[in-house]
Amino acid sequence: MIIDSHQHFVRLARHPEVEGFRQAQLSGKNPDSVPGISDADIKKSLEQVVGLMDSRAIDVAFASPRAKAMATHEGTAEQNAVWADLNNSLILRACQLNPGRFAPVGMLGQHPSCPSQQVATQIERWANEGFVAFNFDPDGTGGRWQNQPFTGKHNYPVFEAAQALDVPLVLHGSESINKNFPHTAVQYLVADITGFVQLMMAKDLFKDFPRLRFLIPHGGGALPCQIGRWRAIAKYNSWASPDEILGNGNVFVDTCIYNNLNMQMLFDAVPLDNILFGSECDGAFPGVVNDETHDHYDNTRRYVDDSKLNAADKARVYAANARRVYPRAARWIQK
Ligand SMILES: [Zn+2]
Repeated sequence: MIIDSHQHFVRLARHPEVEGFRQAQLSGKNPDSVPGISDADIKKSLEQVVGLMDSRAIDVAFASPRAKAMATHEGTAEQNAVWADLNNSLILRACQLNPGRFAPVGMLGQHPSCPSQQVATQIERWANEGFVAFNFDPDGTGGRWQNQPFTGKHNYPVFEAAQALDVPLVLHGSESINKNFPHTAVQYLVADITGFVQLMMAKDLFKDFPRLRFLIPHGGGALPCQIGRWRAIAKYNSWASPDEILGNGNVFVDTCIYNNLNMQMLFDAVPLDNILFGSECDGAFPGVVNDETHDHYDNTRRYVDDSKLNAADKARVYAANARRVYPRAARWIQK
């Protein structure tokens, strides 16, 4: 069994009617009705990714809307709630149309002006529809990082809902208006790093929410290379250490790392119980070939397979950890 814990339905999000709806919103038209995307169009948008999953023997993927399209800094709180609901409804249908292959991960209608209670209500609604986790943008200002750290009490309604419903929050960056921070190359990794360090800095968060779980994508950002730096600064500043927040089962990372060396560094730096297989298959850099492997960079299965992990440890990374960290995914997994 192989579960890909990090996938986005990018092609579905790029359906002209979906993109057109958002453009209409942002131009102030606020369409009365959401676009009626056919089942055939949804299935067609997933053909490529299902084919890649089959060729890589990936059984199930946890799939969310396109991260860039969250664009939590744009629009209004009301528009972003409608936009998130539209994307979530499409993700849910896509999962239902491909039984046994996907589990839905939601988008949230975040906005700098949005009360977090509204976001919490959205988590409750979509968790009740079967969603297994939610992407949460720790920035929310389009790469300007002007908000308070996301771990503050202003987000406690979100954390209360996530803990009560037993759904992890995936700390995932979104679109960047900061031209120094291209979204896939920098902003997402800045979000990973910032999110992880803010969790170390948050004195009371895991005392108040001991069962709250966060997934830091892309191998935890710089975690495989810089965990020593964060151990040092944690001691220096009396923050929680990386080992503490990982060891307490509050923070997890995925394997969205695109070469053998850094994948092995991830396995050396982070406890294996905290690592979930992920690939962003066909999302971040579709079809781009790694000259070292002559295969797609995002075929991260290759790097896990080629690592020094034994078969039992690979089984933890490939599926057992994902089942434990995303307990609501069980209803979507047929094996
Ligand atoms: Zn992603």
